[in-house]
Amino acid sequence: MKTLPYDKAKIEEIAKTHPTPFHIYDEAGIVAAAQRLQRAFQWNAGYKEYYAVKACPNPAILRLLHDQGCGMDCSSLTELMLCERLGIVGEDIMFSSNDTPAEEFAYARRLGALINLDDFSHIDFLKDNGGIPETVCLRYNPGGEFRLGNTIMGNPGDAKYGMTRPQIFEGVKVLRAYGAKRFGLHAFLASNTTDNAYYPSLAAELFQLAADLHRELGVEIAFVNLSGGVGIPYRPEEEPADILAIGRGVREQYEKILVPAGLDHVAIKTELGRYMTGPYGSLVSRVLHIKNTYKQYVGLDACAANLMRPAMYGAYHHITVLGKEDAPCDHVYDVTGSLCENNDKFAVDRALPKVEIGDLMAIHDTGAHGFAMGYNYNGKLRSAELLLHANGEVELIRRAETPADYFATLDFTHLF
Ligand SMILES: *Cc1c(COP(=O)(O)O)cnc(C)c1O
Repeated sequence: MKTLPYDKAKIEEIAKTHPTPFHIYDEAGIVAAAQRLQRAFQWNAGYKEYYAVKACPNPAILRLLHDQGCGMDCSSLTELMLCERLGIVGEDIMFSSNDTPAEEFAYARRLGALINLDDFSHIDFLKDNGGIPETVCLRYNPGGEFRLGNTIMGNPGDAKYGMTRPQIFEGVKVLRAYGAKRFGLHAFLASNTTDNAYYPSLAAELFQLAADLHRELGVEIAFVNLSGGVGIPYRPEEEPADILAIGRGVREQYEKILVPAGLDHVAIKTELGRYMTGPYGSLVSRVLHIKNTYKQYVGLDACAANLMRPAMYGAYHHITVLGKEDAPCDHVYDVTGSLCENNDKFAVDRALPKVEIGDLMAIHDTGAHGFAMGYNYNGKLRSAELLLHANGEVELIRRAETPADYFATLDFTHLF
């Protein structure tokens, strides 16, 4: 059962001041997710969540999460600048970038961010662009396939991220020679998984690596960063991840591997994006057209430029026709946007109640990797973002783009 924190009357009221389409985020849901996560890892003294800024890079959302004790995981110059503008600096930032430009390393070092190195060659690159900090993190890639039981969860061997085990060992030696004193270890091996065994089994792999590094090189391991990847139930029949069980599973591995290795002060870090905000956002759009040809089409006033995941990955996003929550889903539609691109469909062959022009649709679970992946293809403009506060008030936290924004990077004067 998929629910929404508003009904049709509330959205019609909002739409009087904020025309569709817009993404709307649920403050209470985001705060509750942050608190659940903190509870799951409260057994670990140094635990900290670094919210993956790329998932929803809106200052109001970042502020909300920072107020809940979260740091920020950044991977670009503008993400660093967003944090800086909010006064979120120093070790409240984890800079987990890859293919990193020189000035971004230098900028992250100026802010005092924790640096997570994606590649062996980045050690000297960082030394020359910002310098080597006393605490530094290395991103591990074990190669091959990542399995939970018989299920292949990811393909690290094909992924561009991280370093091999020999590179991690050599990297730690080089970094130590350059003055680093404490080390973090990071890996991201599966995306969007609700399997409660993912984090514990990733943790076991990183804890073992930490124990081996500590034993063989005598280095201090400050933290293990489990990164992102905990998923959400996009489909109504899917079960959510049980974050408390996940926290317990990580603790078991901690006590089994780290504690006997003499590493009982290692802090756990996470960089969850989707889990934190994904379910607590939705894209609200109005039906502009109904079209009947070989199939039945519903044409919305939003398009893939506002939510790319269905077009890009064939991802399922649940759709509720507001005010028709209890009507039978006895019609089948493709729900489309207006791009000149046949992939621009929010749903294909979706059973819905009978849809009429003017109906409002809520496309669920757009709170992470939703607005953020927006783009300007076909000259389409990014929508507004709204925050539904716990007290029911609605705040505009990003205005919609206008044609003037689209034209802002163009200069016509030299053409005349
Ligand atoms: C994208 C990303 C995350 C967040 O991933 P989610 O699937 O949203 O949890 C965390 N860390 C890094 C390095 C990432 O690239």
